[in-house]
Amino acid sequence: MTKYEQCPDCQAKIKTVPAGISKRTGKSYDEFQVCSNCEWKPPREQKFYPREKEGIKAEYVKEAQERKADQINEAQKRKEDSIAKFNAFNAAIELVKIPSWKGLTPEEKNEILSEVWELQDKIYQKHILGF
Ligand SMILES: [Zn+2]
Repeated sequence: MTKYEQCPDCQAKIKTVPAGISKRTGKSYDEFQVCSNCEWKPPREQKFYPREKEGIKAEYVKEAQERKADQINEAQKRKEDSIAKFNAFNAAIELVKIPSWKGLTPEEKNEILSEVWELQDKIYQKHILGF
């Protein structure tokens, strides 16, 4: 930070206020300079990306946006996965609730399962995909 000795407006002495906490806002502030007479303050030194680094900044912003999009996609996929698992769980419960289910042989169970899956596929295609 450039140190000023004299106010460019009124030539009065510039004082340096040490860093502290604002009584008004309760927020901390860095050391700053102010004119002892007219309250002139040196212009803020802005943080900026040098021209040759603009590309890096753009790259960084793009990367951050892509990361965010990935996170949203992942969350969406997790949600869909959990819905699919929940539906499968419910379907399994419905099946074992059929009184005769327990008496079936493994082959007969498989046959029913494949019929159920085929039916689900048809329903899905008709009502969800609109075929
Ligand atoms: Zn001044």
